[in-house]
Amino acid sequence: GHGTMESSKVQRDKLIGGLLAPGFDEQSCLSRYQSVLYRKKSPHLLSTYLLERLREQEVLQKKCGPHTESYKKAIELLKSGQDVKVGDCNYLVWVSYSGLGNRILTITSAFLYAILTNRVLLVDGDKGTADLFCEPFPETSWLLPLDFPINQFKNFSVGSPESYGNMVKTERIRSDGSFKGPKPAFIYLHLAHDYDDYDKLFFCEHSQQHLQRIPWLIIRSDNYFVPSLFLIPAYQEELMRLFPQKDAVFHHLGRYLFHPTNVVWGLITRYYDSYLATADEKLGVQIRVFDTETGPFQHVLDQVLSCTLKENLLPEVNAQQPIVSTRKLRSKVVLITSLNSGYYERIRNMYWEHPTMNGEVISFHQPSHEEHQDSDKKMHNMKAWAEIYLLSLSDVMVTSAWSTFGYVAQGLSGLKTWLMFKPENRTAPNPPCRQVMSMEPCFHAPPFYDCKARRGTDTGKLVPHVRHCEDMSWGLKLV
Ligand code: GDP
Repeated sequence: GHGTMESSKVQRDKLIGGLLAPGFDEQSCLSRYQSVLYRKKSPHLLSTYLLERLREQEVLQKKCGPHTESYKKAIELLKSGQDVKVGDCNYLVWVSYSGLGNRILTITSAFLYAILTNRVLLVDGDKGTADLFCEPFPETSWLLPLDFPINQFKNFSVGSPESYGNMVKTERIRSDGSFKGPKPAFIYLHLAHDYDDYDKLFFCEHSQQHLQRIPWLIIRSDNYFVPSLFLIPAYQEELMRLFPQKDAVFHHLGRYLFHPTNVVWGLITRYYDSYLATADEKLGVQIRVFDTETGPFQHVLDQVLSCTLKENLLPEVNAQQPIVSTRKLRSKVVLITSLNSGYYERIRNMYWEHPTMNGEVISFHQPSHEEHQDSDKKMHNMKAWAEIYLLSLSDVMVTSAWSTFGYVAQGLSGLKTWLMFKPENRTAPNPPCRQVMSMEPCFHAPPFYDCKARRGTDTGKLVPHVRHCEDMSWGLKLV
């Protein structure tokens, strides 16, 4: 139960350093102000400028949000189709696409882009957005109304005539930013993994100037494209002020935006209170296998064990002696997440059948094993979100290469996790894992283009804070 000590802690810290706005109805989203009971205080620098800009964004979201006069006016202009001037309320519409980890990363990227360009962020409700996340902005909704008039927006993809890339390619937009024919009221931004060189021009400053004049932007992505925003000169100064600690972008914005709904919060808190709460130390192990077959695979099990043993996250077992006297060390729980239950069963058995070398007592837990990704099912998504969140409450974490699910858990936790490299040819890599340079997610499909020189360049070598990722040599991450 929540004693008086805990409730005073809630009062003190519930806005997590001013990151969250006061004034929400607490019952409708218990996680928002209760997270402080479960999460350690963030040790990462939070700038007062970011707090100011968040408050300004909240004002904009409320002023221009669905059902306001401004919104209705903007929708009428959008319907009229042509030559619309930008007004006080301009919009960025996020299209729901890909797995949950990807969606969380792209909403965050879109939100930061909305802040940088003074746009209102509206999110498409597909794949259960509203079942998973509370409203992040006070006294308004970020959900795109169902009667949004561009109803074909879900079908936009690479090469769509409405896309920025295609408009450049066909010279519907000229290089000076003028239009052949009337200026469109909206443009589609295709920033998904299969985007082409024309779409990638989005990351050039001149494109940003073109886009400034368009009141509605619709974005589809499955990538954390924030690192490349840091390479656009027009945004650099603002980004430095917002994030003096550059590797905390997702950490802060993620904690600001993503509050589990009450149903998901129930999944999280019941699990945590039953299995994790009393331990002195919590190790999270996220096992994500990108293989056509489901597994479990011996090489993945080997990799998890060699990583955790080598880095002293788990003790060795003693195969020689039946009993090693138990020492009352710090108690340890291990939370394992995976689509498959095989790894968990084998590891748990190993520590049941043999004592640990140091007498340490450890328990293992895995909340679900869903077998397959099924991102359109409500309970499946809720469990995925609950597990990401539970992982993020760990004290130490092991994550899997290439996985946005793991990136989100890592970023929310604020930890530098131990990242397991991607196995090649079904063999455990050596070394099995390394500690990451920063807690930021990796941008998997960045552009390699020098907009000024108009030729290819290694965008991971331009500034010290944008580097190639540990788990993907061509990816980019903030450090
Ligand atoms: P990524 O594919 O690892 O980058 O992560 P995504 O979250 O984008 O997509 C994978 C999806 O598979 C998740 O959203 C879940 O639906 C499912 N999934 C993968 N791993 C797990 C897991 O450990 N637990 C649960 N519950 N679901 C998982």
